[in-house]
Amino acid sequence: MNLHEYQGKEILSSFGVQVQRGIVATTPEEAVEAAKKLTEQTGTGWHVIKAQVHAGGRGKGGGVKLAKNINEVKDIASQIIGMNLITPQTSAEGKKVHQVLVAEDVYYPGESETSEFYMSVLLNRSTGKNMIMYSTEGGMDIETVAEETPHLIFTEEIDPGVGLTGFQARRIAFNLGLEGKAFKEMTKFVFALYKAYDQSDSSLFEINPVLKTSDDKIIAVDAKVTLDDNA
Ligand code: ADP
Ligand code: MG
Repeated sequence: MNLHEYQGKEILSSFGVQVQRGIVATTPEEAVEAAKKLTEQTGTGWHVIKAQVHAGGRGKGGGVKLAKNINEVKDIASQIIGMNLITPQTSAEGKKVHQVLVAEDVYYPGESETSEFYMSVLLNRSTGKNMIMYSTEGGMDIETVAEETPHLIFTEEIDPGVGLTGFQARRIAFNLGLEGKAFKEMTKFVFALYKAYDQSDSSLFEINPVLKTSDDKIIAVDAKVTLDDNA
């Protein structure tokens, strides 16, 4: 069973995975209330309005938009709620949007550049072991990365008897080119993400992008969570 982004993020968050925070809304008025509340809770100035449909590629289809003030929150929410969102992953008719996630802006400027990574956790059926697949090429369609730059996709297989090791978590942070605080934050992120996968009866986590913020935090900006149908 596929979950909406906001539901997937709730699961991640309950296991200590840092996520881009947000509040769900079903009308433009609710979106405005959500935006005000989110600013109180997080201090965010801008908001990202994100269509909640079971399909990726929402950004490309016009289902993810940045609002720089409350009027824009209302306008964008009015456009997105009720629209038929067509993305590379929907049929030609698209999917009707019933709710949006009003989310904090996590691309604020700061000390360093932001970077986007790709990370998924899944069962490798050929070995029967869980694996973490990750890439420096975040925010892009992973199939394209696999086709054009396969050397930028890495995998880490997890021995079920041992679990994810510190060595593996550090190798992931290293292969993603991180240093200092961001390196440490990434190892924590990976441990929390793997624990969430292991303990939630999920069959797939796909986080694209995982973001390194300009102040070196590591957070899940998007979340595709598939629950095991037999769980
Ligand atoms: P999808 O994968 O369905 O297109 P995402 O949640 O991954 O949806 O969002 C698409 C893109 O929108 C992200 O790759 C990211 O670059 C961009 N985005 C998300 N939040 C923000 C934000 N706060 N500011 C600017 N861009 C954002
Ligand atoms: Mg995404």
